[in-house]
Order: sequence, then structure tokens, then C-alpha cells
Amino acid sequence: MQLIPANDVTLLTICALPYALKIVNSQLIYNKMSQETEHVKCLIIGSGPAGYTAAIYASRADLKPVMYTGLLAGGQLTQTTEVENFPGYPQGIMGPELMEDFRKQAERLGTEIRFGYVSSVDFSSLPHKVVVDDVKTITADTVIISTGASAKWLGLESEQKYSGFGVSACAVCDGFFFKGQDVAIVGAGDTAAEEATYLAKLARKVYMIVRRDEFRASKAMVHRVLNTPNIEILYNTETKEILGDGQSVTGVKVINNQTNEEKDLDVTGFFVAIGHHPNTDIFKGWLHMDETGYIITRPGSTETNVEGVFCAGDAQDHIYRQAVTAAGTGCMAAIDAERYLAAKEHVVTA
Ligand code: NDP
Repeated sequence: MQLIPANDVTLLTICALPYALKIVNSQLIYNKMSQETEHVKCLIIGSGPAGYTAAIYASRADLKPVMYTGLLAGGQLTQTTEVENFPGYPQGIMGPELMEDFRKQAERLGTEIRFGYVSSVDFSSLPHKVVVDDVKTITADTVIISTGASAKWLGLESEQKYSGFGVSACAVCDGFFFKGQDVAIVGAGDTAAEEATYLAKLARKVYMIVRRDEFRASKAMVHRVLNTPNIEILYNTETKEILGDGQSVTGVKVINNQTNEEKDLDVTGFFVAIGHHPNTDIFKGWLHMDETGYIITRPGSTETNVEGVFCAGDAQDHIYRQAVTAAGTGCMAAIDAERYLAAKEHVVTA
């Protein structure tokens, strides 16, 4: 998949506008909503491949799921161009189209999909309480968290301009497009090391841009990078600008932060691998997380430490981060939720 130039702010503004107008123009609607409480059997938070797959399975299990999409309805894939690695599409498919197919399938099977942003949760007692857009409270027997993660970017204007046209945050997704070409990757953690060696198998040459004089990655990963002949490491180096011809990337301007010497790297691809943020802030204090905020699930399951709360997709996966693995765990979450409810019902009726 290729990332397209994403102006998040514009996207979010376009998506959020109808809702904002609705509540700004009508105090009546706002007041009514703030008092409203609704109960659902299965609440799905987030609308990427994990959320929609959970929705498809939960609908078919008659859990009557309600999904809140989040501000970027459809998730990270709506910011991509071509997706070649999602099974079932022999010719590939555009990311937004793929997510539209996911949405239609979930909707056809009975999921109620609503645009809205979960602003806080209270998992202290059953049923769980979830507040949407700061105004509406939902109580839910089960909650499936599929809020995903967001790639960190350098923040350069040119990086955004060429995002999807040579700039990518996913080597596994986009490396294929740069077969036999020269590329650069920024970052020095395990992700960057892993992606650099992955790219080295496809590209002719990989420049690795490391801002300090050492790696953050584990020794084993650094060893692998150092032993890959077509990776050239540029230590103490920072990215100044992505160069392009208006259509695609033609190079990268870098600067040595010790000598201030600048140079242009002749590359057609630029990969950013400086980490991801899991979108899990609202669950802090309720759910067990690792030190970087990824939700911890019981191995082999999507169960969190809170009864009836399940987590799927990138919010709990910092290793694979693929649409198909997210979809797989979305399926698991719906099955886990269904079994949890069935077991509870059995106890009540027994
Ligand atoms: P990390 O936070 O570990 O590393 C981020 C890297 O990006 C660091 O080297 C950092 O530099 C660099 N960086 C951050 N901001 C900038 C910037 N603005 N300009 C240039 N460089 C920048 O993230 P990862 O995604 O690599 O790893 C996340 C976690 O996932 C880690 O715990 C890692 O071990 C784990 N992981 C494990 C894997 C495995 O076991 N197979 C594979 C991938 C990840 P600096 O060092 O100077 O701070």
C-alpha cells in the first residue's frame, strides 16, 4: 500500500463538520444528547480492519453491534493508495475502496455505524460506560477496542507533500514499489533496523539515517544491519527535506549534525520508521498497557484485564501492524465477546 498525501486536519474537518454543525446550531439537540444514555450489547470503538471485522462477526453472532468510527472513519488505510497485500484482491485495491467494502459488509450484516469519537470510558463496574463526543453516555455489556495506532512522522512539509508518492511509513507495505531502486530510511530502533534489512532485499541500496552516533535497536538487529552490504549507515545525520519533482520523490537533503555538512541522497523512496503511537490514551488507568501504551491482551486471546473488554488490531500489536493481522484479531475479539456473553447468560439461567 502507498500512503497518499494526507492532510489530517482537512480530513478530520470534513468528517467532523456535519456533526459539529449539528451540535453548534442546535442547543436543543446538544442538551438532549447530553442526557441520553443508551445500552448496547456490543460496542466497537474504531473503524479500521480490526473494528469492521469485529463488526462483521459480531453482527452474524446477533450481538447487534454499534460502532463508533472515530474521527478518521476507516482508519489508516483510508490514507493509502494501492493495497497489494490484502488477500482476495488479485489486482490490488485502493485503500479507501477496501475500507468502503469493509464498511458496506459490516452494515449489510446489521452493524449500526455511527460517526463519533469516544472521549472517555469508565470500566469500574458492569455494564461498562463509554462517553461519546463528551456528551452521550453508552453502557455496554462488551466493548471491543480497535482504535489502532498512528505512525510518527518527522513533521516536514515535504514529507507530507510526497506521502504516498515516495514517502511511506511502512516498508513491508510499500517496499515492493521500489524494487531495484535506491531508498532511504530514517530511524534507529528495532522497526527501522528490521525495515532496512527488509528493504535491502528489494532495493539496490538503502541509506539509513541515524540521528545519533549509535542505534537504539537491539544488538541482534544492529548486527543484521551492519552485515547487510547494501545498507549504508549515516550516523549523526538528520533529514532536512524530501526532494521531488512535484510528482514523486527524487532525493533527500540530509545534514550532519556534528559538521553541519549537507548532502543530497539520490533516492526515489523515503521510509519513516521512528515509531508509532497506539491510540489508547483514553484507556490509561483502566487497562494494562506496556510502557509505550499498547494494550496488553491475554496471549492467544483478545481479552484485556477488564472483564468484557477486548482489544484487537494495532492498539495491541506493535509487531505485525498489518491490515490482515488486524482483521484476524478483530474476528477473534467478536468471538471472544460472543463467548463471554454466552457464558454469562449460561451462569444467569443455570
Ligand atoms: P523506538 O522508539 O524504539 O525507536 C525510534 C527510533 O526513531 C529511535 O532510534 C529514535 O532515535 C528515532 N527517532 C525518533 N524521532 C526521530 C526524529 N524526529 N528524527 C530521527 N530519528 C528519530 O521505535 P520502534 O518503532 O523502532 O520500536 C518500538 C518498540 O517495538 C520497541 O520496544 C522495539 O523494541 C519494538 N519492536 C520490536 C521488534 C521485534 O522484536 N522484532 C520489531 C520492531 C519493534 P533515538 O534513538 O535517537 O531516540
